[in-house]
Amino acid sequence: MIKVNENFLKMQDSYLFSTIAKKVAKYQEENPDKKIIKLGIGDVTRPIVPKVLEQMHDAVDEVGKSESFRGYGPEQGYEFIRKAIVENDYKKRGINIELDEVFVSDGAKCDCGNIVDLFGTNNKVAITDPVYPVYLDTNIMTGRTGKYDEETGKYEGIIYLPCTAENNFIPELPKEVPDMIYLCFPNNPTGTVLKKEELAKWVKYAKENKSIILFDSAYEAFISEEDVPHSIYEIEGAKEVAIEFRSFSKTAGFTGIRCAYTVVPKELKAYTEDGGEIGLNRLWNRRQCTKFNGVSYITQKGAEAVYSKEGQEEIKENIKYYMENAKIIREGLEEVGITYYGGINSPYVWLKVPNNMKSWDFFDLLLEKANVVGTPGVGFGPSGEGYFRLTAFGNRENTEEAMRRIKNTLQF
Ligand code: PLP
Repeated sequence: MIKVNENFLKMQDSYLFSTIAKKVAKYQEENPDKKIIKLGIGDVTRPIVPKVLEQMHDAVDEVGKSESFRGYGPEQGYEFIRKAIVENDYKKRGINIELDEVFVSDGAKCDCGNIVDLFGTNNKVAITDPVYPVYLDTNIMTGRTGKYDEETGKYEGIIYLPCTAENNFIPELPKEVPDMIYLCFPNNPTGTVLKKEELAKWVKYAKENKSIILFDSAYEAFISEEDVPHSIYEIEGAKEVAIEFRSFSKTAGFTGIRCAYTVVPKELKAYTEDGGEIGLNRLWNRRQCTKFNGVSYITQKGAEAVYSKEGQEEIKENIKYYMENAKIIREGLEEVGITYYGGINSPYVWLKVPNNMKSWDFFDLLLEKANVVGTPGVGFGPSGEGYFRLTAFGNRENTEEAMRRIKNTLQF
């Protein structure tokens, strides 16, 4: 008899964004004349920049000729893209990462999810709360949690690190020591960041406790302030304790094209039950070569173009455009006296729901009265209750219109 992985049964029925989609579809069906503006899901809207397109077109032509056709590429990514990553994302910031420490993939979501393959199921996991749901869900699936508790909104066995206005969205070092620590900065969903000295405390803590930090910096391109680290490896000693996930999705509008990478330094070790040291770079390489067949040549050529002079200028224009949207959102909220966080080093604005309303009540209010869709904070974890996320990834006209409507709705 075929047995199911019962860990899947512990999962909540409904994924946040599908609940939102259902509510929006129902409202639209009942109100077909209303134009709904979506500032909910974190997908980009600006098209792929010309330099990337040009290089992808050239790559298409190349694979159409027998002399330059490409079949399977290296599972870890072509050398040209890994060189560009090492030079531009690391060397320019004074960080030495070697080519064989970079693994190109089709998404940070997959990498964040797949990385759990490397770790024993008896490891203790810590996540910030609220959190990008992938870290939690993939650990539930692989059996690192107990049951879900309806009352607390938490899973047994997970260490939750609350990030709220009360602690300035800076997670505290937990007393119960985790083995796997997920940190994402600039943060999705709160849009907040950790300054270097704060991140350094985590690196020290991980070192002292032989834990690992899984650092997601998918939004590093949006950092505008000086003392905010773009990479965890800016912190001394981090290569011994951290894996870093990066993505071209938000940086260069690759959410549909799909390209990302993960850095697994060779210094990084995990341990066998009897205390033997095992290099994680070798394990990740083995895992990727077994289960992954690489990103398409055309995509990698496009990603390489992101690092060219023109590519950089062009993607920075798009980032500027989104951050202008963030400013419009922030200013709109200020006008109606709503407290918010983020939106400075990140495309997300995390607002405090007014009048002690619940996140989902506020969602319904905005949907029905302003016809604007955002994301209820509680959907990202129990500490997100009473908060709400708006994204700056919409187009200008919609963002301006959404803020006009929100202001009209919230002028109590
Ligand atoms: N990490 C975080 C924190 C994200 O918010 C997202 C997407 O929303 C991802 C990773 C996914 O990135 P990718 O498109 O590369 O899979």
